[in-house]
Amino acid sequence: MNIPPLPELVYIPIREWIEEDAVIVIKQDAAWRALRERNLDWDIGIELEAPHTTEEAFRRLVRQCDGMGDIVYAVGGGAAADAAKFVARELDLPLICVPTALSADAFFTASSGVRRDGCVHYIETLPPEIVLLDLDVIAAAPTHLRAAGIVDVLSIATGCHDWHLAESRGKNPPDACYDPGVAAIARSILDLALACAEAAGRGDPAGLRALVNALAMEVQLCNLIGHSRPEEGSEHHFAYCAEMMLTGSGWHGEAIPALRTHGELVGPGIVLMAERQGQDVRLLRRALDDAGVPMNALPRDVTELTLGELPAYVRRHDLPYTIAWEL
Ligand SMILES: [Zn+2]
Repeated sequence: MNIPPLPELVYIPIREWIEEDAVIVIKQDAAWRALRERNLDWDIGIELEAPHTTEEAFRRLVRQCDGMGDIVYAVGGGAAADAAKFVARELDLPLICVPTALSADAFFTASSGVRRDGCVHYIETLPPEIVLLDLDVIAAAPTHLRAAGIVDVLSIATGCHDWHLAESRGKNPPDACYDPGVAAIARSILDLALACAEAAGRGDPAGLRALVNALAMEVQLCNLIGHSRPEEGSEHHFAYCAEMMLTGSGWHGEAIPALRTHGELVGPGIVLMAERQGQDVRLLRRALDDAGVPMNALPRDVTELTLGELPAYVRRHDLPYTIAWEL
């Protein structure tokens, strides 16, 4: 069994980071502007905006980057990281991620999420070699992004519940059977996130570091067991379905308008699904608020439509068994 490693985590003011190779920058515009203000001394071969997260767009990006540099840098959030992981694997180049906000767990994972036929699929890629963390940069990120990746740890609350429900219904495949020990570890990581939500949300360095650790542990746990059931369940499926509702049914080629952030979609998914699982959501709701995750970015009618569509959606896309199958 091939277990992907975590990237090396390097805490450093970005202006002190020396890069001598020619750099391919895959960036999100606002993030890149914020970083350049810090006087980077990089030899830039090409800089390109992270495209829509489809495989076709990623392949086009690979062709644009080919021969333009010796190392890939992803600057921004999960969308930049996912695109850059794909490019680095295809061009067999090293990859360094520079998160300008802790907006998702994508900086630590070994896969790239792509949109295909109205759902999110994960393509196996490689983890970055290094994640550069300048806590000043992250603290200066917009509040709604700074610590919003906490949703990928808080989702353990709903993910583990779903995983256990699936076991009790005999719906887990043999390679993803419910493991109470793993679920207990996952819940301990969830506790770390609940404890650091407020400090991370206001950009406190110790709070941000604690959130980085919680995200890294969550990813490492999933790497070890070979699947994401402890942290990905109905709350992510709600998010995928809501995204489809927002963008219309056509998710082909370029026809994708600006998407909501991961936090804006998964955050409400956690609360809505936890309520339907019969869980007390007060601590989760408070952690989401404290961390700055926007809980009202989805219009009410979209939320209602998504909840109505979700049972059919999870069947249509053959998603793992969760509470969404029983709504
Ligand atoms: Zn996620």
